[in-house]
Amino acid sequence: MTRAMRLVAATILVLAAPRLLSAQERGAVALGEAVAGLDVTGRVLMIGAHPDDEDTQLLTWLARGKNVETAYLSLTRGDGGQNLIGNELGPLLGMIRTEELLAARRLDGGRQFFTRAYDFGFSKTAEETYTHWAKDSILRDVVTVVRAFRPQIIVAVFSGTPRDGHGHHQVSGLLAREAFMRRRTRCASHARRRVGWGRGRRRSSTARSGSTRRRRRSRSMSASSVRSAE
Ligand SMILES: [Zn+2]
Repeated sequence: MTRAMRLVAATILVLAAPRLLSAQERGAVALGEAVAGLDVTGRVLMIGAHPDDEDTQLLTWLARGKNVETAYLSLTRGDGGQNLIGNELGPLLGMIRTEELLAARRLDGGRQFFTRAYDFGFSKTAEETYTHWAKDSILRDVVTVVRAFRPQIIVAVFSGTPRDGHGHHQVSGLLAREAFMRRRTRCASHARRRVGWGRGRRRSSTARSGSTRRRRRSRSMSASSVRSAE
């Protein structure tokens, strides 16, 4: 898949942007605008299924050009892929693909994450993929990475629909969305708690400053009483 096609296919899930927008947008322009609007150090997490699904040019542009912390989460290590240049297959091939990905991240400046999903080979649908993968476990891994990396923006390389082709691709799109929704719900609930806590603090701070004023007034009255007594 070419870079241009990937950018069209990728879905950008914005967790925090100016005015705390929660939106689902598409395309490199939307991603550029979302990144430019971040008022803190930006973190963008890209999620795909295999070691060669990521868009390294986009990750490099974000990390080197926009000073954004980037990471790629590959659900698998590519254990089930074809090896055109050697005899290694299965776990050995997965180790080679892992090393290749780590080397790619050293070049583009991003971090690399994986889940426990094993690349068992081609599957036609998400349902077929879930007969090999325990959904709860893989989702837990994705959510753990999202919680640890705390991205403001998640780029789902795939749409989570049959048009992605490979069942692994479909699942990576679906899990990216599910992890995004969980994170957004968590962020919203934290924000609500912070607002509630802030009001409580303001009230107690007002009450404290009131009692401080009363203490000062009382000290001042005592002082004037002393002065008048003198
Ligand atoms: Zn793939």
